Amino acid sequence: MVEQRIPFVKVELDEADIAAVERVLRSGWLTTASQVKALEAELAAYTGAPYVNAVNSATAAMHLCLAAWDLGPGDEVITTPYTFTATANVIVHTGASPVLVDVRESDANIDPELIEQAITPNTKVILPVHISGEPCDMDAIMDIARRHGLKVLEDAAHAIGTIYRGRPCGSLGDAAAFSFYANKTMTTGEGGALATADEGLSTRVRKLTLHGMSKDAYNRYGAGGTWRYDIEEFGFKDNLTDIAAALGRSQLARLEQFIEDRTRVAQRYIANLRDEPDILLPLFSEENRHPWHIFMIRVREGAQASRDDVIAGLTERGIGTSVHFIPLHYHTAYKKLGRWQEGDFPVAERFFAGEVTLPMYPGLTNAEVDEVCQALRETLHGT
Ligand SMILES: *Cc1c(COP(=O)(O)O)cnc(C)c1O
Repeated sequence: MVEQRIPFVKVELDEADIAAVERVLRSGWLTTASQVKALEAELAAYTGAPYVNAVNSATAAMHLCLAAWDLGPGDEVITTPYTFTATANVIVHTGASPVLVDVRESDANIDPELIEQAITPNTKVILPVHISGEPCDMDAIMDIARRHGLKVLEDAAHAIGTIYRGRPCGSLGDAAAFSFYANKTMTTGEGGALATADEGLSTRVRKLTLHGMSKDAYNRYGAGGTWRYDIEEFGFKDNLTDIAAALGRSQLARLEQFIEDRTRVAQRYIANLRDEPDILLPLFSEENRHPWHIFMIRVREGAQASRDDVIAGLTERGIGTSVHFIPLHYHTAYKKLGRWQEGDFPVAERFFAGEVTLPMYPGLTNAEVDEVCQALRETLHGT
């Protein structure tokens, strides 16, 4: 094994993060209470969404949202094959069917022009994914949704800090799910949140987050709480702990700095690799703010080296990479549904075939970025 000198991702933790967690541990109250409440309020202020439900993952946030919208067998949700499996798993778990449409060549986000022709009388929700944090064409998507009476749930796992045409992600669709997984732009270890302007949705999600209980555990055990509760419907167990929320608050306080650092890294990659003929750099729109959750490049078709050669070459040089994403319809579980075949989504498949995700994190130095670029050129040209 070659020693990995530049990892693909590095968690950005400081003493303030550690102290925040320690304070919760010493307080004696570990699970959902004041820290979660405070994180929700701070996320609401940051995203411009009046209601935020902090939960234990983005997957849970999406699942709870679809469940709160009463999705079930016979319903259809439109999304793309170019995403992480969580996006579609949660659709399947409600009993509804994922309907996949292809992405755009420009940014690997859902192609609004393909949404409309996929709508049937059973369609209930459009579930766009902001790949790498570059926003989908939300104005077009919301226009389609309004004309057809559909809800829009954004998979915003990459998009905390995204600003679309002046509006922060979290106040674009009917609801947006953020991820605070360990390798995401800000982290709580495991965690996520649902942001919405719909008070009824937020209230129902809160109930479904904790077993369908009429009162949350804080009210039950806190001062003035009573032992009485009622199970009003069959819910789940997806609440966030105060330990995690304290870390989230500390991270959120530094998020703008993280994004500034990520932008520096992205700009250096772009300046460095602009003239490299064998790769395609990520395309993004100047009218939006990109939080640069990940930096995705593509090895051009017909280049001397293949994508797999590039990954092997970078690995040999101690540089970590990843690939986003193996299209959903390539996976066994999706094949078993018998609805899609290789070739059905040519843009997503082409994207995947050449994609390499380069190291990206706030602490990546300019010298390290230059080293990654130099190693990349060597692997592309065999020098
Ligand atoms: C990370 C990720 C998720 C899942 O987030 P969790 O918080 O781990 O549930 C969903 N969708 C996309 C696109 C992701 O990258």
